[in-house]
Amino acid sequence: MPAKAYMYPLPARYYDDYRIRRYGAHGTSHRYAAQQAANLLGRPLRDLGLITCHLGNGGSITAVNHGKSIDTTMGFTPLEGLMMGTRSGSIDPAILTYIMRREGISFDEMDAVLNRESGVLGVSGLSADMRDVLAAADAGNEQARLAIDMYVYRVQKAIGGFYAAMTRTDAVVMTAGIGENSVEMRRRVADKLAWLGVELDPELNAVRSDDPRVISTPNSKITCLVVPTNEELMIALDVEALLG
Ligand code: AMP
Repeated sequence: MPAKAYMYPLPARYYDDYRIRRYGAHGTSHRYAAQQAANLLGRPLRDLGLITCHLGNGGSITAVNHGKSIDTTMGFTPLEGLMMGTRSGSIDPAILTYIMRREGISFDEMDAVLNRESGVLGVSGLSADMRDVLAAADAGNEQARLAIDMYVYRVQKAIGGFYAAMTRTDAVVMTAGIGENSVEMRRRVADKLAWLGVELDPELNAVRSDDPRVISTPNSKITCLVVPTNEELMIALDVEALLG
C-alpha cells in the first residue's frame, strides 16, 4: 500500500516510535482470490482492477489495482473497517473514551466489547452467524433486519470507495463464509452496486460449487465472481516459492 493509504492522521511520532499504521489482514485470502479471479477471467493480474471481498466471521475488502493491494479496510488491527460477526469495525474512536468514562470499564473490557460483543452479534442481539440473522430477519425480527442493512451498507460503501480509489475495476470478487455461501447476501450487496452497472445473474448466483465462478450477466459492467478461498494452499505455495 502507498503511505497515503497506510498512514493514520496521527502525530508522526506514533509511526516512528511504534509503527502505528494500517497493515490490513486476510492478505493471504485476498491474494489467493485475486489470482484465481485473474485465472478465471483469463487475463494477467497486472492488467486488472479487482475489489476482493473476504466476508466471513471477520471481514475485509481490498482494492487490488494492477495486481497490487493499494488499500484495504482492516487497519493496525483486524478491528477496523467492515462490520463483522462480533467486531464493530470502524466507529468514532471518541465513543471508546465516552463509554469507558460513563461505565467505568477497563481497557480490556472495552476491547472485549469491540472485538467480541459488537458487529452482527451486538446489533442483532441474537447471533454472529449470518445464517441465524437472515432467518430471524425473514421471520420479522427488526434488530436482525437492521444488522443486515448495516452490514450490507458498509460493504457497499467500502466497494464504492475503492472503486473511486482505483484506476479501473474489472471485477468484484466474493470469498469466505458469507461471500462463498450466501446467495442472499451476495444478491443484497450486488443490488446496491447497480449504479456501477453491476448485474447479477440470479441463476448463476444460486449455483453451489467449490469452484471459482462468474455470477454476473454478460452485460454487467463489472464482473462478479465467487472464489472459495484457500489460505492453506496459498501459504503452501508461498513456502514452496521461498524454498525455491
Ligand atoms: P468464515 O470466517 O469464512 O469461516 O465464515 C464463517 C461465517 O460465514 C459464519 O459465521 C456465517 O456467518 C457465514 N456463513 C457461512 N455459510 C453461510 C450461508 N449459507 N449463509 C449466510 N452466512 C453464511
